[in-house]
Amino acid sequence: GPGDVHAEVVVLGSGPGGYTAAFRAADLGKKVVLIEKNPTLGGVCLNVGCIPSKALLHVAKVITEAEEMASHGISFGKPEINLDELRAFKDGVVSQLTGGLDGLSKGRKVQVVRGFGKFTGPNMIEVTGDEGKTTVSFDQCIIAAGSEPVALPFIPHDDPRVIDSTGALELKDVPGRMLVLGGGIIGLEMACVYDALGSKITVVELMDQIIPGADKDVVKPLMTRIKGRYENIFLKTKVTAVEALDDGLKVTFEDDKGESFSDTFDKVLVAVGRKPNGKLIDAANAGVAVDDRGFIAVDKQQRTGVPHIFAIGDVVGQPMLAHKAVHEGKVAAEVAAGHKRFFDAKLIPSVAYTDPEVAWCGLTETEAKAKGIAYEKGVFPWAASGKSLSNGRSEGMTKLLFDPSDDRIIGACIVGTNAGDLISECALAIEMGADAVDLGRTIHPHPTLSETVNFAAEMFEGTITDLM
Ligand code: FAD
Repeated sequence: GPGDVHAEVVVLGSGPGGYTAAFRAADLGKKVVLIEKNPTLGGVCLNVGCIPSKALLHVAKVITEAEEMASHGISFGKPEINLDELRAFKDGVVSQLTGGLDGLSKGRKVQVVRGFGKFTGPNMIEVTGDEGKTTVSFDQCIIAAGSEPVALPFIPHDDPRVIDSTGALELKDVPGRMLVLGGGIIGLEMACVYDALGSKITVVELMDQIIPGADKDVVKPLMTRIKGRYENIFLKTKVTAVEALDDGLKVTFEDDKGESFSDTFDKVLVAVGRKPNGKLIDAANAGVAVDDRGFIAVDKQQRTGVPHIFAIGDVVGQPMLAHKAVHEGKVAAEVAAGHKRFFDAKLIPSVAYTDPEVAWCGLTETEAKAKGIAYEKGVFPWAASGKSLSNGRSEGMTKLLFDPSDDRIIGACIVGTNAGDLISECALAIEMGADAVDLGRTIHPHPTLSETVNFAAEMFEGTITDLM
């Protein structure tokens, strides 16, 4: 048709993986078309993920810190929450960023085609938008179709009181009692927000700990804090039924002994994981294999089984994180532009932006034990950190794992305020092959939370033995 276009590189999906890949390919001289079904660019991360959740978590932090000031002799009183203005703040942050992406696309002459894209052949995508169909022919393609929340068959998802993370971020109201189904990062971040806004929270998790990817000892300070604030935290428990009644959602639980019990909530937030969008794009028409779950397998250069088609981000597998998608996007775009590039990162850091934050990268102790990998550790408790105590917080821990054969750092787990920022130094240290002496002798500014990384290395070296 008249609107049909040809791209040297077409990118399917404009999340952090997709827009990064599109911009990099354009910067490297390629004619790029970016296909997106949503009205705004930015994917899950900018629209309904990382960014809006962090805007709300910031507000939650201010609310709880203000409450806690009472014990330091400063009282602010109960916060008055104007949900419309709070929502406007969050939406403003999102639109500033998504609007920024429009500008960045235009600046690079990346053509955005709006609509739902499906492969019709190995060099062709048909995009169905509001104004009809556009055919995009391409030399090379980068699939960045992302993921969406998993729905559970026994839950009435069409009831407005059942929400997923997208619904939680819409901030329609502050429910009286809310059940968070799933004790992973997304569920606990949303729990943190709604707790601060005044909801009574119950968390239910199938595993024997919350945030199952992180070490149990590191998660403990978070567990202790939320136990004191939330109504209930059920571990090793599953939800077997949710019944929509007039006066609430009746939820049936079953614990690990097979005992059933039930309770009624105003809202249920389902945060049990995300599924990749690989099955929705007719990838078979291009010869690209998609597995049962919807994931697309790729090699170290992000190539699918079809050499001129790449895939990146949530659609290629775990961990489903924005910074992983971005990194893969750069690799794919550079390979597409003829550069010799591989995904060779040693680690992908994970962060739960809860209060306190939990962050880890490289090897965890749980993983080391399971795989029989030798390690030694240096642990620094934040009760001995002047900065943490000055912040009014004594919980927190910095744990570093070292390879006993050469004292190189191989893993880090941190819990405490701003742990997410602190983990970057550990990631850099691991990438660069730093050892305990490097971390222990680098002068860190005092008093900062970053010192705890320095101290944990010194604890391992034995150069600090007594705390305080
Ligand atoms: P996505 O962001 O999923 O984007 C895919 C895009 O492709 C979407 O815009 C979609 O509309 C479009 N698309 C898909 N199929 C088609 C098609 N056929 N045609 C046209 N367009 C299509 N990660 C972090 O690293 N840090 C965080 O703090 C964090 N917080 C999160 C909080 C929440 C509540 C959620 C839900 C996720 C969070 N994540 C976080 C995960 C992060 O959002 C994802 O890992 C990231 O967005 C994945 O990027 P992506 O480029 O693979 O795909």
